[in-house]
Amino acid sequence: MQVTWTVSPVGYQRIAKRCPACNVKRDFLPAGAFRMNSQKKRLDIWSIYKCTHCDYTWNISLFSRLPVSRINPVLYRRIMANDEATLEYFSHDDQILKRNNAVLSGSPAFHVREQWSAGHLCNKRLKVCIRLRCAFQVSLLSVIKKQLFLSASEIKRRVITGEIAGVTLKELKSTKRQTASVVIWVSAGVFYSGRKI
Ligand SMILES: [Zn+2]
Repeated sequence: MQVTWTVSPVGYQRIAKRCPACNVKRDFLPAGAFRMNSQKKRLDIWSIYKCTHCDYTWNISLFSRLPVSRINPVLYRRIMANDEATLEYFSHDDQILKRNNAVLSGSPAFHVREQWSAGHLCNKRLKVCIRLRCAFQVSLLSVIKKQLFLSASEIKRRVITGEIAGVTLKELKSTKRQTASVVIWVSAGVFYSGRKI
């Protein structure tokens, strides 16, 4: 049997930045609103971020000098409505984060969808394919912990014994943003041990 875990971020990605009001480095989060300026049929659109300690706001540029005719009407309506899912989507957008020189802080909460498919038949171990719906900071350790109901030390021990294979201890803890799928092999005993089935 093959199991696929599709991991999606829940909520916003925090950004670390020096806050001019607090005068120290703080985490910033989307304040829940877009800002839009239009001039000569061109749009500038930002997502407003707020310091998590004070009310200082900082705008992250989403679109700059975008011709009005080129914006997707559905997206335009969502921006006008300060749509939550759209704000969340942009908070994880790689290109926008890079363009704004955003330094990511911490890992957002995440949700895992589990799907089973018939594959290679082996009763002793299961093939688990872990894929990220979009690039965001999350460690394989936290995903495996959540899905197998095991502690971090139990997981590390099983990686050392080979009951969880295909991943190194170093790779377990990495939170590097990546979208490539990772395949691990989990012994059936370990897979079901924490699950009350
Ligand atoms: Zn502040």
